[in-house]
Formats: sequence, C-alpha cells, structure tokens
Amino acid sequence: MAVKFTIKNGCVGCGMCYAQYANYFQENDDGSAAVNAGKILENKTEAEKIASVCPNRVISVESAGENKKQAAMQAIQKLKNFQGCPIPSKSSISFKKEEYHVRVPYSPNEGRYNYSSDRAAESAAMSAFKDGMYNKIDTFILEIISEYRVRYLKPYYTKSLDDGSVYAKTNAEVSKLLKEIENIIGNGLSNDFVTVNVFPNEDITWKMLNKGQVLSDEMISSVKREFDYSADDYDCYWDTDDMECSAGTDWRGRTKYKDMYCYRNVGKAFESLGKDLLSACYYARSSLEDRAYEFIESFVKEYNKKLKEVLKNKIQIAERAINNM
Ligand code: SF4
Repeated sequence: MAVKFTIKNGCVGCGMCYAQYANYFQENDDGSAAVNAGKILENKTEAEKIASVCPNRVISVESAGENKKQAAMQAIQKLKNFQGCPIPSKSSISFKKEEYHVRVPYSPNEGRYNYSSDRAAESAAMSAFKDGMYNKIDTFILEIISEYRVRYLKPYYTKSLDDGSVYAKTNAEVSKLLKEIENIIGNGLSNDFVTVNVFPNEDITWKMLNKGQVLSDEMISSVKREFDYSADDYDCYWDTDDMECSAGTDWRGRTKYKDMYCYRNVGKAFESLGKDLLSACYYARSSLEDRAYEFIESFVKEYNKKLKEVLKNKIQIAERAINNM
C-alpha cells in the first residue's frame, strides 16, 4: 500500500532527516523539516525505517490511499451540505424610489411667440403637457416597472452569467466543488462529472418575463390606482409671456406690430408628474414586490429541486469511485 510522510509539530530542526534522506525531506528557511511534495513510497517498512531517523519522533507514516479517501469524503460532504440557490428576502427586492429616474420629455415649442392670445398659449401649453407626458403615463409607468424587473428579477429568469443569472452562478459554485472531488479521486468519474447545467423550466412565465409581458403590464393598473392627478393639477407649473412682434406692413409700407404669446416651463410640469408617478409606484410597491417574489420563489424552488437530483447522482458516482479506490 502506498504511504507518505507527515511531519507533526515538534520538529527541532536537527537536520537528521533531510541530511540523510534529501529525496524525501527538505529544509525550511527556519531550519525545520518539510516533506518533499508528492513523495510517496510503496513499502511501509522502509518508510518506517526512514521515519525512525527523527530523534523527536515527529515524522509519521500514513497511508496515502486512506488520506485520499478521507479528503474525497470531506469534499463530498461539502457537496451534501450545499444548500442550493438561496431565495432572496422580500426586503432585498423592495422598490426604492431613489433608484429610479423618470425620463422627462423635451418640450420643443416652449418660448415661441406663436400664439395670438394668452388663452391660446395656455391651451397650447396644456396640449404640449398632455401630448408629451400626461396622456402617456402608461408608458412612463411601464418604464419604471421594467427597470425594477430588470434590476431585481432578471437574475432569476436568465441563464447567462453576463446577465447575472443566479442559476449560472450556483451551477459554477457546484462545479467548483465537483472539480475538487475530481482532483482528489482522479479516474473513475464520468467525463461530464464537473458539468452542471441546471436551470428552471423555460415555461410561459419565464418567456413572458423575458419579453416584459408579465409584471410590467399587470402593474400599470395597480400604479394608476395610486395616481389621482388630473392634467389641470399641473397647470400651475407653466406660465405665459407676451411680446410685441412684427405683423407685416400697412398700406404705407410701415411695419405693423401686434402682441404675441408663448408658454414656458412645461418641463417643470413634466418633472413634477415624473415624481408623482414614482410616488404612485412606491405606494403600489407591495403588489409589485409580492408578485416579483412569487416568480422568484417559484423559479428558485424548481431549480433547487432539479439541482438536488443532479447532486444526488453526482454524489453516487463519486462514492462509487471512492469504494473502488
Ligand atoms: S529529524 Fe525530526 S527533528 Fe530533525 S529535522 Fe527532521 S523532522 Fe525535524
């Protein structure tokens, strides 16, 4: 049976071992002895004779095979203790207003003296506000929810490490543990022993999440229930201005003037609406978080179930290989 040396505590650095058996021992910087890496003997009696050179009896002879088995069993135990992919806490996926910024549209006609009355400029401001944002609040809510979905849920409905997939990360962790076992055992394992390619089923929910067809769409109505502002609530943000503008010439060729009006600061109304939409999302956050958690929990549970089966199989293969060592 193959054996190897181990130096226990208590080496005084007398040098007897490495002076006489330089093939098996070497001197450390502090004069103590170390075993030359990888040195294994086939003859236990001969090894014990070599070990007896130590006056302090700190060189022991151990079965190389038994050590290997023990190391492999310890590595397998790590695999048995592996808990799978953790389900995140609800607080870790909570919607935080400060993480989002609503895109504020550009208001191209601001400051243009195109209107013949203050009332016309006011009316144009309201149209610009409605066309630019108010009449499209579904789109803006969708953008916020989509950002939340991508930020917190994407790792749970994707397969690539680049997308932050929690399954790909967990597979890599398991693969590392399997590699450790493979390094110890060597032969006797299947070719794909270290490969772990487990993912939840790409069912309809998975596909719809990838297309943004769930969570985002269904949350719009929840958010809108929390948003009860009319377009008129925002008209305090813009104002109008007037200016004497040239209006052609009279019959004598003299320039005529007339008062023209413009609107300003619709952008401020956009910004205020954006903040109100974020607040509405925040007030509707529990429905959003509950729904997101439901998806995550279901995917992770399914993944862990499949992973458990795969690990059971790998452990059986490893244990069989150990028995044959
Ligand atoms: S013979 Fe023993 S005490 Fe001396 S250097 Fe070797 S291990 Fe250390």
